[in-house]
Amino acid sequence: MTRIADLLAAGRTWSFEFFPPKTPEGVVAFDEAVSALAELKPSYASVTYGALGSTRDTTRDLVIRSNQEQAFPFMPHLTCVGHTRGELIELLESYKAGGVENILALAGDPPADGSDPGGDFTYATELIELIRSVGDFAVGVAAFPEIHPRSPDRETDRRYLAEKLALADFGVTQFFFDANDYRVMIEELADLGSEVPVIPGVMPFVSTPGTRRMAKMNGSVIPDALEARLDEVDGDAEATRQLGVAVAADLVSELLDFGVPGIHLYALNRAQSIQEIYAQLGLPH
Ligand code: FAD
Repeated sequence: MTRIADLLAAGRTWSFEFFPPKTPEGVVAFDEAVSALAELKPSYASVTYGALGSTRDTTRDLVIRSNQEQAFPFMPHLTCVGHTRGELIELLESYKAGGVENILALAGDPPADGSDPGGDFTYATELIELIRSVGDFAVGVAAFPEIHPRSPDRETDRRYLAEKLALADFGVTQFFFDANDYRVMIEELADLGSEVPVIPGVMPFVSTPGTRRMAKMNGSVIPDALEARLDEVDGDAEATRQLGVAVAADLVSELLDFGVPGIHLYALNRAQSIQEIYAQLGLPH
């Protein structure tokens, strides 16, 4: 059973997210992290996709290879902004032929300079329809507990999210630091009649400036108490990593108390922080 929809129906999933490395050394580090984390027996893993197709071949090759090498499925992320229908059909056909059964369907970000990306797509829902027309994939989508940065308001964000989830099999969230943001999003979706499982994404961060930059980009609020702790460890790589583990472990623990359908950990192509979270919380593997 390798469709994530089926795994979720059978019980709570545990998953790890990787990114496509840019160098041969990066590929070695990716393989080492995957091998080490395979020992934790995840339900599945995912590999991100560079905006506007910048990692199209690397993501595809890594996913198809890892899917064949590991006992758990690898799901590619796929963004549609800037792509033509033909390009995406070709890519989806290669996933189908390569035995991939799950796709995370994303819009992707338009170019930062405001230029027209071209292509045939604007929203993730259009990609879901295309994926469904190509094959029998299980389809995941993105959710933003603190609303998507381009959403004009909360009500609009939740309405489009509920409509998108209705076409998908499951959601995975952007990272966040306050478990309450996730809980409120789930309640708001339930009020709209949406009960498709949404898996919280948790990031054991490893860098103070990186965390602040990503949080700003994604519209994730860093609580004041965490800002103060980040100031304390700034410049000390190992202390920052350990703080990332402590913060992520506390968040996972709170989320498990909510009865979440799964936990998706941003591995950032490293094994150590996730191994420590598992050890600290005595997680099943
Ligand atoms: P959509 O669901 O299309 O939503 C984008 C915005 O449009 C939202 O504000 C939504 O409310 C609004 N909207 C939706 N439908 C309509 C409509 N019909 N009319 C008007 N407005 C509408 N990016 C990458 O480049 N590569 C990755 O690998 C990647 N992985 C990600 C993984 C996760 C778990 C998450 C949460 C995000 C990821 N992203 C990735 C980021 C994502 O591509 C961006 O956030 C992007 O800006 C939006 O993608 P989306 O799929 O959420 O878009």
